[in-house]
Amino acid sequence: MAAQETDDHKYVYDFSEGNKDLKDLLGGKGANLAEMTNLGLPVPPGFTITTEACQAYLATGREPDGLAGQIETHLQALEREMGKRLGDPHDPLLVSVRSGAKFSMPGMMETVLNVGLNDQSVVGLAAQAGQNDRFAWDSYRRLIQMFGKTVCEVPGEEFEHALDEVKSAKGTHNDLDLDADDLRGLVDAYKKIFAKHTGREFPQQPREQLDLAIRAVFESWNAERAVLYRRQERIPADLGTAVNVVTMVFGNLGPDSGTGVAFTRDPGSGAQGIYGDYLANAQGEDVVAGIRNTVPLQELERLDKSSYDELLSIMARLEEHYRDLCDIEFTIERGKLWMLQTRVGKRTAAAAFVIAGQLVDEGLIDEDEALHRVNGAQLAQLMFPRFQLDHEFEAVATGIGASPGAASGKVVFTSARAVELAAEGESVILVRRETNPDDLNGMIAAKGILTSRGGKTSHAAVVARGMGKTCVSGADEIDVNVPAKRFTVAGQTVDEGDVVSIDGTTGKVYLGEVPVMPSEVVQYFEGSIDAEHVDNPLVRAVHRIMTHADGKRRLAVRTNADTGADAARARRFGAEGIGLCRTEHMFLGDRRELVERLILARAAAERDEALAALLPLQRADFEEIFREMDGLPVTVRLIDPPLHEFLPPLEQLAVNVAVAQERGEDVAKEEALLAAVRRMHEENPMLGLRGVRLGLVIPGLFAMQVRAIAEAAVAVVRAGGVARPEIMVPLVGAVQELETVRAEAERIIAEVVGDSGVEVLIGTMIEVPRAALTAGQIAEAAEFFSFGTNDLTQMGWGFSRDDVEGAFFWRYLELGIFGISPFESIDRDGVGRLVRIAAEEGRAARPGLKLGVCGEHGGDPDSVHFFHEVGLDYVSCSPFRVPVARLEAGRAAVETDGSDSR
Ligand code: PEP
Ligand code: MG
Repeated sequence: MAAQETDDHKYVYDFSEGNKDLKDLLGGKGANLAEMTNLGLPVPPGFTITTEACQAYLATGREPDGLAGQIETHLQALEREMGKRLGDPHDPLLVSVRSGAKFSMPGMMETVLNVGLNDQSVVGLAAQAGQNDRFAWDSYRRLIQMFGKTVCEVPGEEFEHALDEVKSAKGTHNDLDLDADDLRGLVDAYKKIFAKHTGREFPQQPREQLDLAIRAVFESWNAERAVLYRRQERIPADLGTAVNVVTMVFGNLGPDSGTGVAFTRDPGSGAQGIYGDYLANAQGEDVVAGIRNTVPLQELERLDKSSYDELLSIMARLEEHYRDLCDIEFTIERGKLWMLQTRVGKRTAAAAFVIAGQLVDEGLIDEDEALHRVNGAQLAQLMFPRFQLDHEFEAVATGIGASPGAASGKVVFTSARAVELAAEGESVILVRRETNPDDLNGMIAAKGILTSRGGKTSHAAVVARGMGKTCVSGADEIDVNVPAKRFTVAGQTVDEGDVVSIDGTTGKVYLGEVPVMPSEVVQYFEGSIDAEHVDNPLVRAVHRIMTHADGKRRLAVRTNADTGADAARARRFGAEGIGLCRTEHMFLGDRRELVERLILARAAAERDEALAALLPLQRADFEEIFREMDGLPVTVRLIDPPLHEFLPPLEQLAVNVAVAQERGEDVAKEEALLAAVRRMHEENPMLGLRGVRLGLVIPGLFAMQVRAIAEAAVAVVRAGGVARPEIMVPLVGAVQELETVRAEAERIIAEVVGDSGVEVLIGTMIEVPRAALTAGQIAEAAEFFSFGTNDLTQMGWGFSRDDVEGAFFWRYLELGIFGISPFESIDRDGVGRLVRIAAEEGRAARPGLKLGVCGEHGGDPDSVHFFHEVGLDYVSCSPFRVPVARLEAGRAAVETDGSDSR
């Protein structure tokens, strides 16, 4: 008698009851099997046990009430439909028991095939298969092996060992050479192995086999490899897996049977056409095990034209139905095609763009949907040169992929040597323990930067990203010895001049030169490839989708740039202004000496002299940038870092002075410098005399910069250009600080601009938590806010941005305190809340207050969506990330506002 579905809660769905939108409940495989069933495609009948049943089992250690009865009901219905009973001795119904979670976790969980075979039904199966004893016994031995391993944790090697023994007794390496007798013997051997490890005989009751297999699939959700995979892929741990019980169909019944996998388009390039592999006379697991070589799917046309034609028409149907690339698994049993699985297929970044474009052309999706189907991370991948890792290159170390790209070159250990060798036309990789502002010239000269310390917001990482230069930071397996001009890694020594290759995406470091290919997408953005006239499907698709994103986005996209060259490049990439021009780099190099004079000045006259010498230099810097950004806004930030960063390090200076004194040399100047360095030493410089505090403490410093900005703007305007300067004050925490700076700045601006028509806005960074919380007051003195989310994260969390990522974030990630570094992607709940409060209170106090962000988060895809939601006016990011921000701003508009357009 069939058990009734006594429990109210439904745990089992026939394939005809589900659909593709029920992935939460039925898992990806179950939902799509149901969808195909309802489309009338040939799916072997079966049913799905829900993820909820799995969750209940995992929570309590036993099957939920009602499950057993519901399985019985659905099994009986299946038996009626197939006209066979599970494990019937004469004509057995056999089923497979397959896992299938909401998100695909390839190979992570368990499958048991041929459930229902036992000592009797193996004979019935042979008879039904046309007296094919070999096939029946082979199926039986596979069941004992899979069941033993999966359900009862019998060590898999023992089965493999037994199989090898039979093969060697027969003098062969090939399973296919074993005949029915060999396999019957193997079944006996397998049963003994099973009994030895489990203390019981192999279960002969089909329903017991089924129940134990289902339970094993539930439990495989928590297998170590599945747990690890989920953590890596950020799949929530509490979803559980569904279990699919599917009528077995056999691809190993002879040459008119077989199994295969296929994609409806090329998942590598997106090219249209049928891609797949086929293996005649085999089961799916043989394909994976690589027992024989597969043939291209096109071969099937010759082998079995009617199945091939049917398959093609099903694939076309699936694409049209899912409106996307699908991948499928199928089996042919004696000329009859069966669909075992389909899903929207994974693809490369290039294929994602190409396919989205094609589907628009084919009328299957609209342009909004195409935009939704690609993302900034994929675009970023397409913008970096890539290593061609065809040959076997083995990484010797792995650090943090701090700034993506691929670079090879000769190792150098100092900035000066980098400049020298680069001038000789060499490609160089600058290797340092960590970099500092003094390494700037070397970083510019180098193809890539490799450090053994520091995280994603270390100096090396931030500067490299700004330049679009490849950087691997924090590769702590590398031991750098600068004086000896060498580093050691994995027991090998690398000397200056040896070649290494670094991958800034994966963080991997290789010895020797790995060949590199340039990115066509960058060539397109830079204007050297014309998308309208090039026969390159990727470039055409990128162009089309970017154009649509630009039409939809509400956020403007600016760039962080402090040189004319960076500004020009960013403009080609679509930047609509500069959101952050850091001025500190303009005080290095030859100008360092002037800064020293400024710091050491004892009298006002000396200081003014140094400032007067800096003024024309700064004016020239700004003129160049205003010219490059003609007509667009340029936010110039007044000097921010602690001044001692411009002086030599204390220890080095102390040693130099001591040595010089010993030699009796005149060291008056060095001693004064040393005294200044000691005077200015701070235990916590990032919380010390920097930003607006410098402007309040050092007379004339900000005034000089303000004057240089205003004069540069006037000069550009007088030469017929359009300059739109915005002066930004860093590290403000109280409105009074800003008011003081503002009063002086307004006076200077009024004096300089006269009737030139130049307008200069004055605003502030919001990067100190107190500024965010008093934004209403600060807005009274600011025409714009730009969120400095690097410092806001540093001060909001109390995390030193230069140290913590490499030091202990791994533990925070492991514990799930955050899923991604808050320096990389905005912490919406905490730091993001500060942004939201400041935006709301700032706008309430001053309607029309311009709001932007210029921290690293301005180029991070998820953060861009957040800034869109909060209602900022623009994001600003390094030149290289400008296209990514444009794309994501478009996606944010389409996803949250639907019809919003600019
Ligand atoms: C910030 O703090 O987010 C910022 C943009 O300023 P900086 O990184 O120069 O401190
Ligand atoms: Mg800052």
